[in-house]
Parts: sequence; structure tokens; C-alpha cells
Amino acid sequence: MFQESINQYLKANNYNSLHLKSVLFDMDGVLFDSMPYHADAWHKTMAHHGLNLSREEAYLHEGRTGASTINIVCKRERGYEASEDEIKTIYAEKSEEFNKNPEVQRMPGALEVLTKIKQDGLFSMVVTGSGQHSLINRLNTNFPGIFTPELMVTAFDVKYGKPNPEPYLMALKKGNLKANEAIVVENAPLGVEAGHAAGIFTVAVNTGPLDDKVLLAAGADLLFPSMQAFCDSWEDLFKELKG
Ligand code: CA
Repeated sequence: MFQESINQYLKANNYNSLHLKSVLFDMDGVLFDSMPYHADAWHKTMAHHGLNLSREEAYLHEGRTGASTINIVCKRERGYEASEDEIKTIYAEKSEEFNKNPEVQRMPGALEVLTKIKQDGLFSMVVTGSGQHSLINRLNTNFPGIFTPELMVTAFDVKYGKPNPEPYLMALKKGNLKANEAIVVENAPLGVEAGHAAGIFTVAVNTGPLDDKVLLAAGADLLFPSMQAFCDSWEDLFKELKG
């Protein structure tokens, strides 16, 4: 069922087979249903600074570091980049706006699939552009016994962030993995781009408002309409992925 996509990936990357050991998960919009809050917080904060960033556009920037998003919008709207101080102010305000929302919920299917992956003898990693200090606690509370701090890549670990392959290359390094020993699960076009550029088989889960085409054009090897659908297909997919 998934073999054709796998074969295309193997051929394009000069591998004979996949030897799956780990699943690399993006966080917002994949593990947590937090993207509507992020998009709303970006829109409101930018408007407060006289900058136009629609909620839909926020989904297109998803995965970038906060500084990078602020700079792109400033440059477009004003013709010059934001100062370090302004970036700090805007990002702090955006985080404050985000935190006004009720606590973010797990994405349906996320805990279930992480549990299946663990039972199959694989380990899961988190690879996120987020730099929230509460992140590890939030992961431990919602997904007990699944993630360890050593096997995480966050905004504090990387210089460039997605769509650069850097975060996923760092995950391979931290997990002592080759590119054909892992898969990436991402919901955003820039995240898919990063996974693909790192040479890793990349699964897109379309949990937001964007067209499937955007995720496929970014280089997704497979696409599911939700995390629940990915979870429900896990057994079949794993059979074909373990090589
Ligand atoms: Ca995401």
C-alpha cells in the first residue's frame, strides 16, 4: 500500500532499504493541537506593531524560528529587518498572546501512535522550532515515558531552523541514526521541506487549513489527513518501513 512511495524515496536517495529505528516528530500541529492559537497570536501581535500577517500566512511560516518570521514580515511590510530588541519585544508579546489561550490539547491519535511506536521497539524524538521553557514539562505531562531531553531538538539547539535541514540532521546525530533509519512526521510545508532536505522519509499529516498540494510540493513522501489517520495506518506502514 505504501511500497510505491517507499521505493521512490529509496531510489532518489540511493538506499537499498529502510531500517527503521526512530520516528522524528515535529511538535506544534503534530503532537499538540496548538497551531490555531499560534496563528492567532502571530496575527494579533503583528497587527499591534502595524504589520500585516494573516492567520493563514502564519501557517505558511510555521516551523521557522520566531526571529526569522518577524524579519520576513518586517522586510516585506517596511522594507527593512527588525532590530534585535524589536524581535525580542515582538516574540515576547506573541508568547504572551499565545499563553492567554486555554491549555493546548494533545492532537487526537498522537499518544496512541507514540505508544504503538514504543511497543514496536522504536524510539521517538521531538524536533521543534519552539523555544518555550515549559516544553519538556508539557511533553512529559502529556506523553509520559515517551521522550527524553537528550533525544530532543529545540530552538535552543539550532542556528538556522526549518526549512533548513539542520534540525533534522541534528536529530540524526543526537539519535545516532542514519537518514534511512528514521522517518519524519510534519504538518507544515517548511517542516516537510526540512525533513526532505535532510534525506529522511517524510510523512505529512495535514492538520491545518492548507491544501494537500502545498505539503506534497514541499517534498512529502506520504500524506495523511490527520494524526488519527496516521495512527490507524501505523501497523501497515511499519510492516513496509522496517524493510
Ligand atoms: Ca508544526
